[in-house]
Amino acid sequence: MKLINLNTSVKALQKISLVILLGVSFFSSFSVCMAQVHKPSKHRHHEAHVHGSAKLSIGFDGLSGKVIFEAAAQGIIGFEHKAKTDLEKKQAEDRLKELVSIFPSMIVFDSNLSCQFKQEKIEQIFEKTNESEVKNKKEPRHGEHSEISATFFVNCQKAILGSKLRLDFTKMKNLNDIDVTVLVGDLQKSVELKRTPITIDLK
Ligand SMILES: [Zn+2]
Repeated sequence: MKLINLNTSVKALQKISLVILLGVSFFSSFSVCMAQVHKPSKHRHHEAHVHGSAKLSIGFDGLSGKVIFEAAAQGIIGFEHKAKTDLEKKQAEDRLKELVSIFPSMIVFDSNLSCQFKQEKIEQIFEKTNESEVKNKKEPRHGEHSEISATFFVNCQKAILGSKLRLDFTKMKNLNDIDVTVLVGDLQKSVELKRTPITIDLK
């Protein structure tokens, strides 16, 4: 009997480590994927940066999730250059604070799942000039562009698989179009969010 118990606990331990391993690899591959897609680099095309557009990626493994929101800075803080005057600095700071505070009201998980948002980081990322494109005169040189990138951790008391997720970005008056990707374990959903709230069935 003792031996069986021991075997069971070893198996349970193995199972737990597997879950942890999967979780870690899931998050690292998810972040790597996001970084490759959105990191401003010299290979990046200007088409990827559209004023009024945003990208929202929600990835869940078990009860924990990560939400990455990226938008042209114009639609969030009202301009894209580095804030120079005190007025601009205050405006940028206020708009980012506002984004963080209203974020959980725009990505609404079923209330009985008791999901909590925790802000990881929020930053303004300036687009680097594509030197080769400038040299080859492929495109006229644009003014300074930048994006807002916000990352949140979400922890829920119950699994979100099978629940409904409501997305309502109508508070963001300057956003017209948000490309949404939701990954929950093996489930993947992609939707385009316009100016009307939507509900995604996570099944
Ligand atoms: Zn721009």
